[in-house]
Amino acid sequence: MKDYLKLCAEKLSISLTEEMLAQFEIFYDLLLETNKSMNLTAITEMHEVVLKHFIDSISVSKFIDLSHCKVVDVGTGAGFPGIPLAILYPETEFVLMDSLNKRLNFINMVTEKCRLNNVTTVHGRAEDLGQNQEYREKFDICVSRAVASLPVLLELCTPFVKVNGKFVSYKSESLQLELEKSKNALSVLHCNLEKEYSYSIPDSDFFRVLAVFQKSKKLEKRYPRQAGKPKRNPL
Ligand code: SAM
Repeated sequence: MKDYLKLCAEKLSISLTEEMLAQFEIFYDLLLETNKSMNLTAITEMHEVVLKHFIDSISVSKFIDLSHCKVVDVGTGAGFPGIPLAILYPETEFVLMDSLNKRLNFINMVTEKCRLNNVTTVHGRAEDLGQNQEYREKFDICVSRAVASLPVLLELCTPFVKVNGKFVSYKSESLQLELEKSKNALSVLHCNLEKEYSYSIPDSDFFRVLAVFQKSKKLEKRYPRQAGKPKRNPL
């Protein structure tokens, strides 16, 4: 696994140290082992885990500098993209959020075994945590992958982002359609699409589009709305 990961990362000009590769290996072993008794991922074949989980998660580093800042991963699940990014950026503080506590228990085990002391986990719904002063508008960058459609995701994620901070959404070819449906959400949540990056993950036919949004003003207190509302009735 380590050799293949190193090779694929090099194709993206990302260099992983021996310590990072060892941490990825521990994460990989725990993911596969725990997945036997807990639903963490449908992807278990080694090459696919490397490409679709590890390389996909860290590919953002080609375009956005996450060093020495505060990052939140909303709906992290089994730790994607948060854990691979925390391995790549040991000096950056990561908060990994999810509404399912058992997945966070898995992440806590991973961070302990990998000695990742730049990660904390927070259990709760993004709608509630976004109203909590401990997390509201406290992060330089928010990342999120495979959690909700863009109009919903913008309401879940932008409350965590500081003014002038960024929200990075891992999307696919459907981005243009989702952007069309997000015009109102973008305006109400004071966000602009700063840039989009389209690329293929090396050694695969897997295509990724990263959408990077910048927040220009503080949010009105009423956002995010109460839990469940963003999905039931998107902005
Ligand atoms: N980001 C991970 C990945 O790419 O593999 C997990 C994706 S999984 C499909 C979606 C995750 O988002 C689940 O773990 C779910 O519990 C979490 N989630 C969904 N809605 C949420 C919300 N409103 N607040 C917090 N977490 C949420």
